[in-house]
Amino acid sequence: MTYIAGVDVGNNTTEVAIARVDTAGKPDILSSSLVRTMGIKGTIRNALGVIDALDKGLAAVGLERKDLSLILLNEATPVIGDVAMETITETVITESAMIGHNPGTPGGLGLGVGTTITLDQLESTQLPGPWIVVISDQFDFKEVAERLTRGVSRGLIVSGAIVKKDDAVLITNRLHRSVPIVDEVSHIDRVPLGMPAAVEVAGQGKAIEKLSNPYDIATLFDLTPEETKQVVPIARALMGTRSAVVIKTPRGEIEERRIPAGSIVLLGEVRKESVKVEEGAEAIMQKVALVSPLVEIQAEAGTHVGGMFEHIRTVMADLTDQPVSAIQVQDILAVDTLKPQRVLGSLAGEYSMGNAVGLAAMVRTHKLPMQRLARKLEEEISIPSSIGGVEAEMAIRGALTTPGLKPPMAILDLGGGSTDASMINEAGHITSIHLAGAGDMVTLLIDTELGLDDRDLAEKIKVNPLAKVETLFHMRHEDGSVQFFNEPLEPRLFGRVVVLAGEGPVPLDIKEPLSKIVQIRQNAKRKVFVRNSLRALERIAPAGNIRLISFVALVGGSALDFEIPRMISDVLVEYGVVTGRANIRGVEGPRNAVATGLVLAHVNSVH
Ligand code: ADP
Ligand code: MG
Repeated sequence: MTYIAGVDVGNNTTEVAIARVDTAGKPDILSSSLVRTMGIKGTIRNALGVIDALDKGLAAVGLERKDLSLILLNEATPVIGDVAMETITETVITESAMIGHNPGTPGGLGLGVGTTITLDQLESTQLPGPWIVVISDQFDFKEVAERLTRGVSRGLIVSGAIVKKDDAVLITNRLHRSVPIVDEVSHIDRVPLGMPAAVEVAGQGKAIEKLSNPYDIATLFDLTPEETKQVVPIARALMGTRSAVVIKTPRGEIEERRIPAGSIVLLGEVRKESVKVEEGAEAIMQKVALVSPLVEIQAEAGTHVGGMFEHIRTVMADLTDQPVSAIQVQDILAVDTLKPQRVLGSLAGEYSMGNAVGLAAMVRTHKLPMQRLARKLEEEISIPSSIGGVEAEMAIRGALTTPGLKPPMAILDLGGGSTDASMINEAGHITSIHLAGAGDMVTLLIDTELGLDDRDLAEKIKVNPLAKVETLFHMRHEDGSVQFFNEPLEPRLFGRVVVLAGEGPVPLDIKEPLSKIVQIRQNAKRKVFVRNSLRALERIAPAGNIRLISFVALVGGSALDFEIPRMISDVLVEYGVVTGRANIRGVEGPRNAVATGLVLAHVNSVH
């Protein structure tokens, strides 16, 4: 009787299966374990993680390192992926023309239209208005309220105000007749005077109606069709906000500019196409499909996208001791997304959603130096180590231990850097493919669209449901159900949208309502995994026909996701395919496929 271990080193996760092999050669898998991969996949730093995972697996069944007679490593697929985001539009306001602004606590209610005037000028003017008063931080709110009231009693019409400090509510509360007031306009000195302006504030929980509609802005300011076109970016930026101010200046302009991000050249086996990144994801993916099967993808040197390609080729070249010129980018996934961006030339640092393209790229080289890793392991822990088999084949073998599966079947390995698929037909022949874009890409999209700039938080939002803490004693989950608590929740959670992470509710500092965050999260998953599942299955299915695959089993970390399997199942059901999360050996769920496959393949080959 001997003990052996199967080890799968992935880009994110290192997984181990510990097995006892009896004298007849029958394997019995005793335990499994997993740790985060240390270092880039294929480097000798991985050894640390492998040893850690082995120790965990052994300890679980009371074994020690010296009990092991063999370690089997995967012949890791030599692919690494990288993700990047390229902004392709930006909003520029020249001469501070029309602005949108959405402070936290505006004052008053409704729409006010008039000409901009300072508080000082209001004291002396003889013209009745209507006026929109521009208020700097030189007076406190009491004085401001008194001066406005004095103006009104002189017969002036004050229809709204724009305020520098966060004083709108304090001022409104002191007026006889409330008017809409927008505050926190940091660059108040840039507000042009003597110009037509409109201020709109909606009731709590509601969104403005007029200033978010280009035709209402056109009506208020008497705009030509040409000018109306120009206000579209502003109207769009103001959709869903609670308050806004728009000012018209004679020569002001808002432009939505396209930013050149470089172009991509797709070299296929039979044809070649080129596409500009700023044309957007749809255009890029159409060309990818057109040129497929791809041989190589190149990017224009000296551009944003060129820089990204250069980066992953250099990393891969270092890793494998090859010249950069030998490394080829073999697949890309492009996804349209939106990115909050500071509006250039704005009055209060406003943001608008600019268009962006998310790109995942994947390079492939000849072989990762897993042999080196095996030698390093032998050196460190003195256990014979060798390469046990090709990752894609081992994954299929492992997945076939799922109850209810038989060939012809395919697996989709939903990892962090790449989406891999393999197919086994009735004759036992295996084909496989690796595509750019997986879990890391989803995290990047969530991070970008919510403007978090915090990958760890984005990862939490990706893998956990949300809830709204409505009182200290109850929260409403995103599915609408209500949960009550006997002990009060922490006060800092009150009124907040929270992520229900393993360590407890994490409050989000995001203005978007819960439903919007859910929508962004689900769209990110769909855009990456539904598209890649179809792309992958089309490539490995007999004659490209997905209907000829009877079963699809999902494996890998992203198959653990609480909504991705359902999304993939929803599209594949249309092809008559049985789709589900794998359940390796009937106990592991979608984890441990490759490690299990390594053990099974070995005992088969020996006995
Ligand atoms: P690899 O084989 O490349 O090492 P994995 O199979 O470990 O990768 O998959 C890593 C991906 O799985 C990451 O993008 C991670 O966010 C995702 N992931 C891990 N656990 C979960 C989970 N519980 N829910 C959703 N996604 C998960
Ligand atoms: Mg993997």
